[in-house]
Amino acid sequence: MSTTNPMLAAALSYAERGWPVLPLHSPTGGACSCRKPTCSSVGKHPRTHRGLKAATTDARKIRQWWTQWPQANIGILTGAGSGLVVLDVDDKGEKQGSHSLALRAADGHEVPTTFAVRTGNGRHLYFKHPGIPVANSVQKLGAGLDVRGEDGYVVAAPSAHANGQTYEVESCQELADAPSWIVAAIAKKEKVKGVMNEEEFRNNVPVVAEGERNDTLYKLACSLRGQHGMERGQIEPILLHYNDEKCDPPLDADEIFRIAETACKFPAELKGKKSAKRQEENPLYWFKFNLRDFFSDERLNIMTDYQTGWHTRLIAFAWQRGGFLPADRKTLYKLARAKSLKAFNADCDIVLADFEEVTVNDQPMLKNREMAARYSHTLQDWMKKKEAGEASRAARINAARPTVAPTMVH
Ligand SMILES: [Zn+2]
Repeated sequence: MSTTNPMLAAALSYAERGWPVLPLHSPTGGACSCRKPTCSSVGKHPRTHRGLKAATTDARKIRQWWTQWPQANIGILTGAGSGLVVLDVDDKGEKQGSHSLALRAADGHEVPTTFAVRTGNGRHLYFKHPGIPVANSVQKLGAGLDVRGEDGYVVAAPSAHANGQTYEVESCQELADAPSWIVAAIAKKEKVKGVMNEEEFRNNVPVVAEGERNDTLYKLACSLRGQHGMERGQIEPILLHYNDEKCDPPLDADEIFRIAETACKFPAELKGKKSAKRQEENPLYWFKFNLRDFFSDERLNIMTDYQTGWHTRLIAFAWQRGGFLPADRKTLYKLARAKSLKAFNADCDIVLADFEEVTVNDQPMLKNREMAARYSHTLQDWMKKKEAGEASRAARINAARPTVAPTMVH
């Protein structure tokens, strides 16, 4: 069933993308179709009694609405319900959103090309919803920059604006991910219910059964992120560790990586005190391993699923200890959570192929050469940089000496 009404056609096309729409009032010669002389939101508020709750992707309902009100403006729901976050760049009067955006870009906070709509006085930039609650915000990112997230909506093209202009699709690009600097600024700060710190988790959480594993590890991840300011590469091994210790049966490593990734969409909150304490304990407190780097090995292609699982757990354990593992088979078998020592012994050479036997303090150990090398290389770089900094401060003669920033692994 085709339509000649461009409003209806557009509303249907949005619904097809999975964006719930709703009919809005329309500007009628300077007034609003709601007929309130004092209307403060001309052509921008819902016609439906239930307001935003009525938004739908149901084509039948949409046809019904635009048959009843053929001129109705179109609203698109934002937030998790539509998978959209919209940045409203408003260039009206003194609050020049475009200017604010340019200032942010000069700081390195760029905005990727994405689906964009020209509005009455600026632009709407549509982004993929990041998967964590996003608050509606006004001017939080800068003058003239508003964000529409949970329980919000935007007036969509080709709606009519009160100033006589029409909302027009300016760029039909695929949706880009919401830039991290925007997500960090607007992620709802509400605490994830029941977040517990690592100590509480270790001492008070017994076995985590199927159905609770995701949620429980997510809460731990949020605490590591929110209370300890940890990055993904630091959170992953801790989750892997507790996944093995507490979850019955453990989740797949992929699932763990996904949980860490989601938690890291929240801005890290680090209290100065904690940072200083960590710095004291370890000069390379910021140095992260990304476990995934140790999964690119060609050998992994020939490993079976359970061998990969053992390998993951052993690598995670080694990461916490600077690239070293105990050499004792029985301990390794326990760390790997293998079901049988016999099976583990049979496959040990494959699983531990990236470790070599070394002697440390007269004790036999296994060493992952790449992991240990990366740590020591970074340590050396750091020492060099530190020395260079001190020398330059002391004499100011060495200013031109290049100091290479340590390779950060994200
Ligand atoms: Zn009105």
